[in-house]
Amino acid sequence: MEHGIVVGGSMAGLLCARALADHCGRVTIVERDSFPATVENRRGVPQGRHTHGLLASGRDVLERFFPGIAQELIAAGAVEGDLTRDSRWFMQGACLAKFTSGLNGLLMSRPFLETAVRRRVLALPNVQARENTTVEGLAASADNARVTGIKIGGETLTADLVVDTTGRGSHSPQWLEGMGYGKPAEERVEVALAYTTRWFRRRPEHLDGDIAAVTPPTPEGKRGGVMLAQEGGRWTLTLIGHFGQAAPLDLEGFIEYARTLPAPFIYEVIRNAEPIGDAMSARFQASVRRRYEKLQRFPEGYLVFGDAISSFNPIYGQGMSVAALEAVQLDETLGQGSHDLAKRFFARASKVVDIPWSVAVGNDLRMKETVGPRNAGANIINWYMSKLQKAAHHDPVPALAFHRVGNLLAPPPSVMHPRVVWRVLLGNLRPRSNAAAEERSVQAAAGH
Ligand SMILES: Cc1cc2nc3c(=O)[nH]c(=O)nc-3n(C[C@H](O)[C@H](O)[C@H](O)COP(=O)(O)OP(=O)(O)OC[C@H]3O[C@@H](n4cnc5c(N)ncnc54)[C@H](O)[C@@H]3O)c2cc1C
Repeated sequence: MEHGIVVGGSMAGLLCARALADHCGRVTIVERDSFPATVENRRGVPQGRHTHGLLASGRDVLERFFPGIAQELIAAGAVEGDLTRDSRWFMQGACLAKFTSGLNGLLMSRPFLETAVRRRVLALPNVQARENTTVEGLAASADNARVTGIKIGGETLTADLVVDTTGRGSHSPQWLEGMGYGKPAEERVEVALAYTTRWFRRRPEHLDGDIAAVTPPTPEGKRGGVMLAQEGGRWTLTLIGHFGQAAPLDLEGFIEYARTLPAPFIYEVIRNAEPIGDAMSARFQASVRRRYEKLQRFPEGYLVFGDAISSFNPIYGQGMSVAALEAVQLDETLGQGSHDLAKRFFARASKVVDIPWSVAVGNDLRMKETVGPRNAGANIINWYMSKLQKAAHHDPVPALAFHRVGNLLAPPPSVMHPRVVWRVLLGNLRPRSNAAAEERSVQAAAGH
C-alpha cells in the first residue's frame, strides 16, 4: 500500500502507525490535538491524568516495536520492578505471595509513556503527523464499496487504508451506517465507576520500598485503590468507587476515604505524605465492546482499532496493552497480504479482546449491581478465583497463574491447569490454624 491514514494519535494510533509503517509507503497520523513538545497531558486524552498501568504483555510489545525503549524510559525516570516481588496485591483478606516472577513492571505516568512512544513513531522516516486536524467523515468510492480517504475541512485526503483509532467516542458506527452498512452490535457492562486521583511525594521508607499497592474494590465495600510509583519520585494514587462510592476531591476527605479501603497500607503512606497538586476525577459508566468481526459487510480500505473497538473497566489496566497486542495482529495480518483485510484483522482482534474482556467482565459481575449478561458459569469461575487468590496468599504457583492472566500473557483457562488446581485445593485444605498463622506472617512481611 502506498498511503495509510491513522485517525487519532493516542496510544492506539501510535502503535497502529508503527505497525503500518512496515507495510505502507507512507503513513499519516491525523490528530485533533496538537502534540505537546514536553511531557504534558492533552485535551484529547483526559484519562491520561489518572493512574495508568502498563501490563507485562504491553511492555513486551513496545520492546518488540521499539527496541531499547524500556531502558530509555528507565533512564528517563520510569520505575522498574518485579510485579509480584516488589508490589502488594491485597485480595481475599491478605496480600498475595511475594516472589520473583520475572514479570517486569514499568511504572510511569501516561503522558510520559505516550511522549516517548510518539517520539519513536514520528522518528520513522515514512510516518508524519497532521496535528490540529479533526476528521469529519470518510471519503468513499461511488458504490461505497471502498473507503478512499478522509474528509477534513473542505479537503479530502486520500489513502489506500484508513484506520479509526479515535477511541471510545469513535464515529465509525455512524460513518458506516451513512455508507449503507450495518452498525456493529454493541455489548455493554455497566460498572458505574468513579476515579479520583491525587499525586504525592514518594519517600524511600514508603511501603518498605515496594513500588505498587493494589487493593481492588470488593463486592461488599465497592471501594478500592491503586497506588503506583512514578517518574520524578512521586506516587499516583487513584481511589476507585463503584455505584455511588466516589472518593471526595478535598485532601482530608480523600485521605479519610483511603482509610476505609480493605487494606491499610495506602492510607498509611498518604496520611503523612506531601501532596502534589489538586485531585482529578473521572467517571466510567460501562465497558463497551463493538463486534466488528460479526458484520456481514464491511468496506474495503478501512479498519477500526483500539478503544474504538473495545474499552474496558480501567481498573484492570488493559487498554494500552490491548492496543499493543492488536498492533501485532495488524502487522501479521498485513504480512499475509491486504486481501480481505477487515475480515481477517477483526477476527484476530476479536481473539485479542476476548481475554481482557472475560477477565474484566467476569470479575465485575461479582458485584450484584453490575448490569450485563450473566450466566451460571460466571459464578462458578468467580468462586474458584476466590479460592485461587486465597491459596495465592502463600503459594507462588496459583499467584503466578493469576498474574500471568492479569498481564494478558496467558489465557484465563490456564488458571484451571491441573497443577494450579491441585495447589488451589491444597492451599484451601490446610488446617485453619496453620493458615491463620501463615497469613499473619505474610502480612507482617508485607509490612502491615
Ligand atoms: C480513567 C481511565 C484510566 C485508564 N487506565 C488505564 C491503565 O491503567 N492502563 C491501560 O493500559 N489503559 C488504561 N486506560 C485505557 C487507555 O487510556 C486507552 O486504552 C488507550 O489510551 C488507548 O486508547 P485509544 O488510543 O484507542 O483512544 P484514546 O486514548 O481515547 O485516543 C483517541 C485519540 O483520537 C483523537 N481524536 C478523536 N476524535 C478525532 C477526530 N475526529 N479527528 C482526529 N482525531 C481525533 C483524540 O484527540 C485522541 O488523541 C484507562 C482509561 C480510562 C478512561
